[in-house]
Amino acid sequence: MSALPSIAGSSRVTTQSYDVVVVGAGFAGMYMLHKLRGQGFSVRVYEQGGDVGGTWYWNRYPGARCDVESMQYSYSFSEELQQEWDWSERYAPQPEILRYANHVADRFKLRPDIQLDTRVDRAQFDEGANSWSVTTSDGNTVVARYIVLATGCLSNARMPDIKGLADFKGKVYHTGHWPHERIDFTGQRVGVIGTGSSAIQSVPVIAEQASHLTVFQRTANFSIPAWNAALTSEEREAFRAKYPDIRRFAREVSRNGIYTEVPDKGALDDGDSERRARYEARWSRGGLTFMSVYNNLALDKAANDTAADFVREKIAEIVKDPGTARLLQPNNHPIGSKRICIDTDYFATFNRPNVTLVDIKSNPIVEILPNAVRTRDKEYEVDALVLATGFDAMTGSVAKIDIRGCNGQTLNQKWTEGPKTYLGLMSAGFPNLFIITGPGSPSVLSNMIVSIEQHVDWITDCVTYMRERDIETMEAKQDAEDTWVAHVNEVAHTTLYPQANSWYMGANIPGKPQIFMPYIGGVALYRQTCNDVAAKGYEGFTMTAVEQPRKVAAS
Ligand SMILES: Cc1cc2nc3c(=O)[nH]c(=O)nc-3n(C[C@H](O)[C@H](O)[C@H](O)COP(=O)(O)OP(=O)(O)OC[C@H]3O[C@@H](n4cnc5c(N)ncnc54)[C@H](O)[C@@H]3O)c2cc1C
Repeated sequence: MSALPSIAGSSRVTTQSYDVVVVGAGFAGMYMLHKLRGQGFSVRVYEQGGDVGGTWYWNRYPGARCDVESMQYSYSFSEELQQEWDWSERYAPQPEILRYANHVADRFKLRPDIQLDTRVDRAQFDEGANSWSVTTSDGNTVVARYIVLATGCLSNARMPDIKGLADFKGKVYHTGHWPHERIDFTGQRVGVIGTGSSAIQSVPVIAEQASHLTVFQRTANFSIPAWNAALTSEEREAFRAKYPDIRRFAREVSRNGIYTEVPDKGALDDGDSERRARYEARWSRGGLTFMSVYNNLALDKAANDTAADFVREKIAEIVKDPGTARLLQPNNHPIGSKRICIDTDYFATFNRPNVTLVDIKSNPIVEILPNAVRTRDKEYEVDALVLATGFDAMTGSVAKIDIRGCNGQTLNQKWTEGPKTYLGLMSAGFPNLFIITGPGSPSVLSNMIVSIEQHVDWITDCVTYMRERDIETMEAKQDAEDTWVAHVNEVAHTTLYPQANSWYMGANIPGKPQIFMPYIGGVALYRQTCNDVAAKGYEGFTMTAVEQPRKVAAS
């Protein structure tokens, strides 16, 4: 801990002071701490959970694993770390990713600066002192020059508002808030509500335990096989030898932070048999790169239809009952316009005699009874309920903090019509407040660790630049923000993404403004934009030096 020079002498300060408060100890918060500390900043990290790991601390449901391959879904900032950590499978399961997060915390001696079981409830900018007062759930208030929200994009689990849920007699689990002890569904009748990524991962595992599993589906989703397998030491070594190229490609060339071939043509440039052969090859390889077969699948509906038709045909081949197969075939959104899922035997699970699919679009859930889910047409008796109902994505965890910037304005007031940021990193009126993988940045459209590292590096460079020049505050300029928000929106609407009612659009949360939140321009282009902004002396931001009145622009 160190006192801020300009704050420490103030009589108003009765609390501890840090250069930076970081909220959240997932991959973003941990790397932010490591990087800032390396530059000599004093940092306090607050984490509401009982340990580090974020997503991988909370999401312990059966079958939880990453869907970006582990050799790429891992930090690149330390050569030693990436050479020494052995991923056991192509897509590591949640316990292993959590062990990795804990290893990082220990290896880089992060724990002394992380306060666990402590929620940040309030952050208020003091315009006189140019600092943030941060109040936590243990009743303390600390002061920091900067606050960094590393609160996660998928960290605010969404509880569905279903009549009678509170009176259900059995156990209710949310995939995003799974208990720490092993849950065994053996002999139980289980209901899973929701069919997004978490359901797609957990349904095949729960089906093996439950005496009967009923899956309540509102929207069918596209899913590609993972073909998960153990990684051999030869495979790991081959990958590690290529790490410099793979990591550089992910950062500087790719759109989504994943190493893959760059497609050189559109789907309609190939004839039917050639196209089918390409889709077959990618299906056999499995994983997220399915969408990189052609360069126009996210742009051209006719091209997209060829990929969507291919996956629908695969579902019909796998699922024996034609009625169930039809229900599982997504038909209300272009493939990829919702986060594409990666599965192990999801569709085949519906061939099991102990699994039933219920279409709650045509036959909605009316209420939860003490021992059953009642739809309009029928009652389904269940002993336990699994809510795989997702998250209030990208803004949910930020919105839970009472953040007050200049003139007492709250961030929630400012974002009433949807989140507004410059580069996804800052929001005008909230000086010295940074967001990692915030709305307006590639974020959830990418391999998140690539995007996290880019933001952390940029923020660290930025605050180091400010310290070297005695600059006390930095704030996004309103016109730069407006231009960026318009750009994010415009780019989104050149693609098929806004055609889906997705959580990218906020469509899964009743009353949430519907705008496309992440930046779709691609991580390589985005990185270049951020670097250019920094090279031009942080163009689009107002910087104010020590002793100067606020709002004297440096750029
Ligand atoms: C099941 C699942 C699988 C995923 N798989 C992948 C994948 O394969 N590839 C990929 O790129 N991404 C994946 N993601 C996205 C994943 O969230 C990111 O990859 C990454 O883990 C995010 O790290 P983070 O540190 O930004 O956020 P998080 O891991 O969400 O951590 C944020 C932390 O902030 C804490 N926090 C929030 N608010 C407060 C507060 N007010 N006070 C104190 N603490 C607070 C939370 O408790 C949480 O621990 C997946 C997400 C889920 C849910």
